[in-house]
Amino acid sequence: MSETSADCIFCTIVAGEIPADVLASNEHAISFKDLNPQAPFHALVVPVDHHENAAASAAADPAIIGHLVSLADEVAKASGNEEYRLIANTGVGAGQSVFHTHFHVLGSTPAMTESL
Ligand code: 5GP
Ligand code: ZN
Repeated sequence: MSETSADCIFCTIVAGEIPADVLASNEHAISFKDLNPQAPFHALVVPVDHHENAAASAAADPAIIGHLVSLADEVAKASGNEEYRLIANTGVGAGQSVFHTHFHVLGSTPAMTESL
């Protein structure tokens, strides 16, 4: 069963209820461009199930983190970024502003195609 939070912006994106620039998705996770990019390539990878941070997702099911890392690698390489940074801010003091698990995928090469 999928867990969602009614007032969560990323749950709304996962449900397809508000638009996002989606790069890739599967049954476990979705990747879309960050609204406010901090690097030439800046995507987010977000699990379908709602938990407030990466550690909470790992506690619920460690496989979720594996799915996120795999999807991050896929979208980074598809965009021409063989090397990239993966960041999970945890807590307000660390810069977390959306409390649905996500990794930032940051690369120095802008996406070359329409969708990536
Ligand atoms: P955090 O600050 O929690 O680590 O990262 C949240 C990220 O989500 C921010 O970089 C912010 O720009 C992005 N973001 C917030 N709302 C939306 C949205 O509605 N659409 C997209 N594409 N990105 C969003
Ligand atoms: Zn959520």
